[in-house]
Amino acid sequence: MPYVVRRTLIPDLVLDAHGARSGVGVTIEDGRILEVGPVTEGERLPGAALASGFVNDHSHAFQRGLRGAVEQIEPSHPRDDFWTWREQMYALAEDLSPNSIRETSRRCYEEMLCAGYTSVTEFHYVHHRPDGTTYKDPNALAKAVVLASEDAGIRLLLLPVAYARGGLPRFRDQTVRSFLARVDALREWSEGRPLVRVGVAAHSVRAVPREWLEEIGKYAHDLPLHIHADEQPREIEECMAEHGMRPVELLAQTGFLGPDSTLIHATHANAWELDLLFEHDASVCACPTTEGNLGDGFLPAEEILERGIPLSVGSDSHVRIDPFEELREIETNARRLSGRRNVLLAEGETSPTPYLLRAGWGSMGLKSGDPADLIELDLSHPSLADVEAENLPSALVFGAGSGVVSGTWVAGKRVSGQQR
Ligand SMILES: [Zn+2]
Repeated sequence: MPYVVRRTLIPDLVLDAHGARSGVGVTIEDGRILEVGPVTEGERLPGAALASGFVNDHSHAFQRGLRGAVEQIEPSHPRDDFWTWREQMYALAEDLSPNSIRETSRRCYEEMLCAGYTSVTEFHYVHHRPDGTTYKDPNALAKAVVLASEDAGIRLLLLPVAYARGGLPRFRDQTVRSFLARVDALREWSEGRPLVRVGVAAHSVRAVPREWLEEIGKYAHDLPLHIHADEQPREIEECMAEHGMRPVELLAQTGFLGPDSTLIHATHANAWELDLLFEHDASVCACPTTEGNLGDGFLPAEEILERGIPLSVGSDSHVRIDPFEELREIETNARRLSGRRNVLLAEGETSPTPYLLRAGWGSMGLKSGDPADLIELDLSHPSLADVEAENLPSALVFGAGSGVVSGTWVAGKRVSGQQR
């Protein structure tokens, strides 16, 4: 089949955060959306709705290997929690090789595409041989992850993660300078790979000292810059003991926070820390299915919304890969905490759905100029049968799962579902 440079898709409905329209086509050219508007000529997608693909803003792809294996008590740990789970995650990380990380990551990314994620932010911290010595190519494992994303066809933001202390030897770089040299090399290597971008990250204030945070914050400039923070109370206690301040205060002081910074979790962030995030235009990424599975706690979602702090979601440990479930959990947890319904209302809204879908998509819907990263929704799926078009966005968030996704397009190419 010749390469089609421009094509117009005409589904039964085109969905955005507020509703669904019929008689609308999506015209794609060279991997981007040229136009979304009324059309009569094009390729029909009967029984389908088109919507934006979801952005999975926090992933450790290899942890998909723990699914189902960590849902029972180990006799050596009669009390199971985040820290005992972490031991099992370390055992899995210890065994990875360049080949196995590529294979496990590819399968994880394929599952994401099936579930409606078209883009993933990989928080990559397994860097070296198990004994801590570097591979012949010091970025061998990071490159294996990039190749996995290309095998699957998903868009990737790769974040090489700085790790100075704790964890396994293979997570750690000797100096911040040698870490940043690896990031430089990776950025150069990834140039010309159309679906790949490289940013930078620090694992946490546990794993990285103050001087490293300062250096990495300086290095990042306008690169995406991520860090885990305020996931567990113990991490905050340790930060108080070492630095005399809470994690987000330390990040603000070290120049780590800015418009391109994203704090992963923020589960236990207090009001002052959330104010600091707002003042620095930083974002929060919530991972509700993982945070629930690990017993982390509840996202302070109302406080985040009130301050206008941008929010995204991630499937993190991949206990579950389903963007609808992540979004639903955010609102459902806010209801449990407040004893109310329809809690997360953005200004002028009467439903939490637009706010939640914006967190999942990073936009309010398909628009010209954006990458052609789309999902097809099966309108005949039992979860969506008999739902009025105007209620479709809320039915997806509150009453559906990833099984309603019948196809996924990245950069205008169908990478999951039946070939059209
Ligand atoms: Zn994480």
